[in-house]
Amino acid sequence: MSSPISVTPAIRAGLDSDQQFGSVVPPLYLSTNFTFRELGSPREFDYTRSGNPTRACLADAIAHLEGGAGATITATGMGAITLVLLAQLQPGDRVAYPHDCYGGSWRLFEELRARHHFEFFPVDFTAPNVHEELGHIRPKLVWIESPSNPLLRITDIRTVSATAKRLGATVVVDNTFLTPLGQLPLALGADVVVHSVTKYLNGHSDVVQGAVIAKTVRLAEQLDYWANVLGLTASPIDSHLVLRGLRTLELRFARHQANAQQLVDAIASHPAIAKMHFPGLSTHPEHSLAQSQQHGFGAVFSIELRGGEAAVQAFTQGLQLFSLAESLGGTESLVAHPATMTHASMTPEAQATAGITPGLLRFSVGIDPVHELIADVRNGLARADEVVAAV
Ligand code: PLP
Repeated sequence: MSSPISVTPAIRAGLDSDQQFGSVVPPLYLSTNFTFRELGSPREFDYTRSGNPTRACLADAIAHLEGGAGATITATGMGAITLVLLAQLQPGDRVAYPHDCYGGSWRLFEELRARHHFEFFPVDFTAPNVHEELGHIRPKLVWIESPSNPLLRITDIRTVSATAKRLGATVVVDNTFLTPLGQLPLALGADVVVHSVTKYLNGHSDVVQGAVIAKTVRLAEQLDYWANVLGLTASPIDSHLVLRGLRTLELRFARHQANAQQLVDAIASHPAIAKMHFPGLSTHPEHSLAQSQQHGFGAVFSIELRGGEAAVQAFTQGLQLFSLAESLGGTESLVAHPATMTHASMTPEAQATAGITPGLLRFSVGIDPVHELIADVRNGLARADEVVAAV
């Protein structure tokens, strides 16, 4: 299950490139603009919204990791998603998207649908009839999020991409949860990958950023062009920080994944848990699919507590190592309550359809010593158990 990709482009991105002083790490180019050699003769970069050396260095490294022809780095993950939609779609085009995707993506799709810019169709990509459903929708764009946030459902990227190709649709995969080390959607048939770089790629919870990686040069150029037109590109200083984070991605992600698997194994049979969602469990409905298309199972899992929201209160009050916060993928351990936090923008009906219940908690497992994480969660589960016992 170990990743087939070389991480050298990430570890060495921009090293030894400084001609002026020979600095080992690449310099940070904050300049908003660059001089022309002479009238009519621009250099490689002229204005930082359209292009910047620090951001370009990061884009090359991320494109290499995903096996793409090029990448565009955006100011946020939502900016990456907006870029793909606006660069690819014409008014009235149809988009099939997962009914259980990240709440911010859901909100963007719904807002654009409400304004009649494009047509959006929520789809259960794990349903056996997904291919027929896509045939009925006839989408221009198929949006996949696998594993999905927060229920860790897995979409068969190979077969959905094949169906999408037959229908003439572009396939986009949000690969935020697994990083290129955990999954290579372009090799599985997708055309475009998006990331919330905010999560594992940066990995230190101190930058908000996004990335769009395209399979072909033509698509990569189109996306780059539109990022400039729309003004969605990321800042050089954020790109510099992400370059630093990216160098340790392999080390961090290996530890995140090992910790998550051990934590899940340690608590899976706890009586306070009604349901556990983690593709690494042999009981997960798409466990074998995850094994066949992923390299590892990631480090995010979710649980449904038997005692509903009261148990969630008891669990979260008193945690020592898991901070109650949005986001995921940083070195620290986090727990979130999707119904009131990450997915609060979904309507109650959409939450119910997706399977987001009041007792659901999502965990982002950090790189802390795992026995301490296990003890912290076990203490929380004991508090949740007391709530159930008191009813
Ligand atoms: N995609 C997924 C799967 C996410 O979890 C998030 C944020 O949580 C985003 C996209 C949006 O990214 P950002 O918060 O960097 O705008």
